[in-house]
Amino acid sequence: MSLLKPEESSFAGTVNVLVIGGGGCGLSAALSAHEHGAEVLVLERDSSALGTTSMSTGLIPGAGSRFQTEKGIVDTPDIFATDIMHKTRDQTDQSMAVHMAEQSAPTVEWLADYCGVPLSLVDSFDYPGHSRRRMHGPPNRTGSELMGALHDAMARNGLDVALDAPVTDLFADEAGRIQGVRITRPDGTIEDLGCNALILACCGFAGSQDMLKEFIPEIVPAEFFGHPGNKGDAIRWGRALGAAVGDIHAYQGHGGLAYGQGVPILWAHIMEGGFQANADGKRFSNEAKGYSEQAVEIVAQPGHFAWSIYDERCHAIMKEFDDYHDALKADCIRKAGTIDELETITRLPNTLVDTLNDVAAMTRGEQEDALGRDFTGHPVLEPPYYAVKVSPALFHTQGGLIVDENGQVKREDGSLLPNLYAGGGAARGISGPSCWGYLAGNGLITATALGRLSGQAAARATR
Ligand SMILES: Cc1cc2nc3c(=O)[nH]c(=O)nc-3n(C[C@H](O)[C@H](O)[C@H](O)COP(=O)(O)OP(=O)(O)OC[C@H]3O[C@@H](n4cnc5c(N)ncnc54)[C@H](O)[C@@H]3O)c2cc1C
Repeated sequence: MSLLKPEESSFAGTVNVLVIGGGGCGLSAALSAHEHGAEVLVLERDSSALGTTSMSTGLIPGAGSRFQTEKGIVDTPDIFATDIMHKTRDQTDQSMAVHMAEQSAPTVEWLADYCGVPLSLVDSFDYPGHSRRRMHGPPNRTGSELMGALHDAMARNGLDVALDAPVTDLFADEAGRIQGVRITRPDGTIEDLGCNALILACCGFAGSQDMLKEFIPEIVPAEFFGHPGNKGDAIRWGRALGAAVGDIHAYQGHGGLAYGQGVPILWAHIMEGGFQANADGKRFSNEAKGYSEQAVEIVAQPGHFAWSIYDERCHAIMKEFDDYHDALKADCIRKAGTIDELETITRLPNTLVDTLNDVAAMTRGEQEDALGRDFTGHPVLEPPYYAVKVSPALFHTQGGLIVDENGQVKREDGSLLPNLYAGGGAARGISGPSCWGYLAGNGLITATALGRLSGQAAARATR
């Protein structure tokens, strides 16, 4: 990964707007650039353009969307921005939080209307930290459906994704203007391509063990369940160009990856009254604070695992998610008719009975939780119980290049690099400096909204 001088290039041609990375950000950027009149090409390192986005649940927040209005939910960008600031303990850039909140509903509606993504509102449970039900997702709540719909939109608009096209180097002049890129094909063949604007949509550095060890050592023991091709290229190029980088220690963790099976167990079961116990049969944290910070809590437990325990009602809600059906098919989910059976199945000590009794008392409002969780508002867990053994996971990193409201990359002195944009995992997120600031949807809102805005801005700037 390096910066080369333009005189070292042999451009085969020049494209108006080049996009590096064919995930959710890259395809949103390409569709938007095309919508605003630019010739655009996406360069993707893999032999299929899927990225982290296709592994995701595909849920995107939109505050004040027409989907919410149809369901009678009152929400505004102000309320959403307040939730973001609260989750990050006021430690993210407030103007970007407000901007993303303002852009959230227009982006969700653009994805539905312009790109044809079949989105609907998730209105069956609350996400941690969201004071309104504002997550929108495709029918089976999968990122592969989201990517499928974006690829269909690309095809309808005659837009190409060049596959097996890892960008290894950028050509930049002395003023920091990107003149083009170098692709090093898997067989070693080199191709140089010129551009008038470049959008970095190649996510963060979760796929780089070296960068993880350097910047986020706390999560290295967790399982990596993200896209291995995301090696931090955007950050490396950005740094070489004098770009500002922010929140490099931030990431999206997850406290519920089915142990040894790699299927995400989504947080609805916890938010509806379920809990997690460690190898001693005891709870160890306030699980409802968020799934991201729960990963590092599980890393600290004996054996680095936990059991998620819930009941039939939570199980029914979980069936909304395709991932849960995968977990059922993979036989990760255990069912127990009694507490004794639950202990046998999980091989947890009989302290689990006390834990369940405590949870029941806290749910009835008879007892305070020493770990700070409010269990009230849901029925007491009842047999049959369900249990799934989970590992902590790293999904993706949230630190990255600092950008303006159009996704244009800033230098350390605050000035703008002339024609370089970034979005999604390549840009600094709105999750604060660590794992605890990640609010569900922060990944895809910055991917799709900054993708859309940078595509639009790059098209306008190069027209
Ligand atoms: C299991 C899971 C569930 C999730 N669920 C949600 C959710 O419901 N809602 C939400 O908001 N977020 C969710 N996330 C996070 C979300 O998926 C990411 O934040 C988002 O997909 C990032 O999009 P992106 O386009 O920036 O990156 P990606 O989708 O990872 O795309 C980056 C692409 O760039 C390519 N690339 C990298 N380097 C190069 C290079 N040098 N040259 C060419 N190509 C390159 C990669 O191969 C990749 O295809 C989830 C993540 C996971 C793992």
